[in-house]
Amino acid sequence: MRDTLVLNASFEPLSTVTLNRAVVLVLQDKAVVEQAHPELRMRGAAVDIPAPRVIRLCRYVRVPFRRQAPWSRRGVLVRDRHRCAYCGKRATTVDHVVPRSQGGRDTWLNTVAACAEDNHRKANRTPQEAGMTLLHQPFEPTPADAMLLALGREDFDTLPEWLARSTAA
Ligand SMILES: [Zn+2]
Repeated sequence: MRDTLVLNASFEPLSTVTLNRAVVLVLQDKAVVEQAHPELRMRGAAVDIPAPRVIRLCRYVRVPFRRQAPWSRRGVLVRDRHRCAYCGKRATTVDHVVPRSQGGRDTWLNTVAACAEDNHRKANRTPQEAGMTLLHQPFEPTPADAMLLALGREDFDTLPEWLARSTAA
């Protein structure tokens, strides 16, 4: 995979992100390209930038690497990349795997992103009770997730449609 290394504004390495996320960070003026792939470029109607191999954040962020990142609904959506844990479609809600009515808590390991339809269908039941299957198990956020959360934006996964990836001859 072509992952991109992210440096803090102070040049300390923070984590790696996907190439798409790196390009979105640059296009949103959250980061600048420090080192580019020699052959790969990202091209669109109004932009032509080298695909970043190393980017540096414009603003210093404090990332809780050692402590556990505090749980939040927004954090669950970022961690799960806005994909429903039951069907894989775009998720806008957070589902408690063990419902709160059965003692389930607001923790990283008990919550997943879910589309409104599946969240409504599952209601106050466990996946087993509802006959639904999790596509993946919930997990603690990665350092990259924690960094993106610290940057304060939700959606770093979606490249603009007009932007294509191409390789220079
Ligand atoms: Zn769904």
